[in-house]
Amino acid sequence: LLAGAGSSGVASYHPVLDQQSLRRLQLGTELESAMVEGQISVVFQPIIDARTSDIVSVETLVRWAHPRYGAIAPDDFIHLAEQIGRIGPLTDHVLDLALARCRKWLDQDIALSVAVNLSARCLGEPDLVDRVRRALRRHGVPGELLTLELTEGSVVDDSVRSSTVLADLHALGLRLSMDDFGTGYSSLSQLRQLPIDEVKIDKSFVLGMSTSQGESFIARSIIELAHNLGLRVVAEGVEDELTRNLLAEMGCDKLQGFLVSRPLPDDRLESWILARTGVRSAIPGTPHRRL
Ligand code: C2E
Ligand code: MG
Ligand code: MG
Ligand code: MG
Repeated sequence: LLAGAGSSGVASYHPVLDQQSLRRLQLGTELESAMVEGQISVVFQPIIDARTSDIVSVETLVRWAHPRYGAIAPDDFIHLAEQIGRIGPLTDHVLDLALARCRKWLDQDIALSVAVNLSARCLGEPDLVDRVRRALRRHGVPGELLTLELTEGSVVDDSVRSSTVLADLHALGLRLSMDDFGTGYSSLSQLRQLPIDEVKIDKSFVLGMSTSQGESFIARSIIELAHNLGLRVVAEGVEDELTRNLLAEMGCDKLQGFLVSRPLPDDRLESWILARTGVRSAIPGTPHRRL
């Protein structure tokens, strides 16, 4: 946006700063204070066992309630945060909110694992592993209860460096999940060389399953190959019963989507959990039990 300075040293800005660029520039400057002022929050979307329907974890999804623009979707500000070099603080903020909740659940004898999305940029930050380690320690959450969701691009772009980072993260006990699988350029064989525990079939395939055989075939292939490599499989974007049944029949391990639940604020998640039989028995008196 501001890279228009010519050799004369005189900035030659684009004559009209369009509305969208203006807004993006403004949002960038507001991100920091938005965190401090509590405009950035998180919601949690349940992930269930495909066979038993028990809740097995929740994915943390960031939300920005802007005082003038209203709700801004993550797809509208994650990329921006990356571009202006503020994705690190944003990630720390989300991790902090997620682990604080996880600790609170632990105090209620609910050992619910939380997943946090990690932007591709974060893998390049030299202090990432240290920050994650310190966050776990600060909240007193065992690494085993944290999953980090990565995107394919982030590990394939610089696979040597990222394999070291991933190994260090893995050594903290946490699990690594390959998000949006099937949309990027990685192959399952590349995944085998990395300490990845799980793949999430991208919702673009899952959403099409009830109407397209092609989509179903892709899902089935991913599940089979992933299982052969010893990886667990999560399907995201499960919206209807037919898709759910198809995935269960294909042996998909975990399901996430509007059919199960929309992403929920903390208090609504707790009532959602309590309303489900598969989990009620696990709540009293069994600290650190994985649901
Ligand atoms: P994602 O990690 O693949 O998350 C899943 C997205 O799919 C979420 O959108 C979720 O609300 C949506 N979703 C879940 N179930 C269904 C369904 O059944 N149907 C449909 N149509 N959609 C469903 P959301 O919350 O808008 O997040 C979008 C993306 O933004 C995420 O995709 C993730 O890549 C990114 N994101 C969200 N929170 C964070 C964060 O804290 N850090 C980073 N780096 N990225 C984040
Ligand atoms: Mg995700
Ligand atoms: Mg995804
Ligand atoms: Mg996505």
